[in-house]
Amino acid sequence: LFITLEGGEGAGKSTQARLLAEALRAEGHNVLLTREPGGTPGAEEIRNLLLFGKVDLSWRAEILMHMAARSDHLDNAILPALSRGEIVVCDRFHDSTLAYQGHGVGQGAAEVLTFLNDARRLVNCEPALTLMLELPRTQALERLNARGGQTDRYEGQAEAFHERVLAGFDAIASADPARVKRIDAARTPEVVSAALLRAVHDRLMV
Ligand code: C5P
Repeated sequence: LFITLEGGEGAGKSTQARLLAEALRAEGHNVLLTREPGGTPGAEEIRNLLLFGKVDLSWRAEILMHMAARSDHLDNAILPALSRGEIVVCDRFHDSTLAYQGHGVGQGAAEVLTFLNDARRLVNCEPALTLMLELPRTQALERLNARGGQTDRYEGQAEAFHERVLAGFDAIASADPARVKRIDAARTPEVVSAALLRAVHDRLMV
């Protein structure tokens, strides 16, 4: 079973991915907990370049770098784990590329969305379940400010960029309700975690 977690900055994806993996392991499942961009040594190298590299790439190159990282991650980690029968919990996947590179960087331009669609067809593996952690930007900012720490290329973007990203995630959830389950991430970590586990159980029983 391939599960992805999606959402904007500060929604709690990484914490929730960890809690979900722990809960599933406690139930006896073998779980690969992983993240994007990254998840394998090669893809983590590309992550550093994308998030902390000194130069900006053209939008096409940026998308292809995300796809290159994803290809390595799929070939060397996700697909082998799935074929061993493990549950894969992945913090961000294709939907983040559509939200950030398509709606954020590319401002939803038809040319960008078409390019993304073509690239996605080449690097294809669709999650069985996507957990979309939804949190209004004002609340996300409060959490991010409290957390502090290093800012990457994308986090440092103007507010309008993050609003476009969130609108992108919202459109993705609306377009594919069978795969994407919306989760209200404004609640306590424990309550959110229970909601995620419930959604996974529902999916396992289908
Ligand atoms: O999940 P995390 O917040 O660690 O993601 C790292 C950074 O990469 C974030 O700033 C996120 O906005 C950015 N990102 C991106 N495009 C993706 C995936 C992540 O811009 N496709």
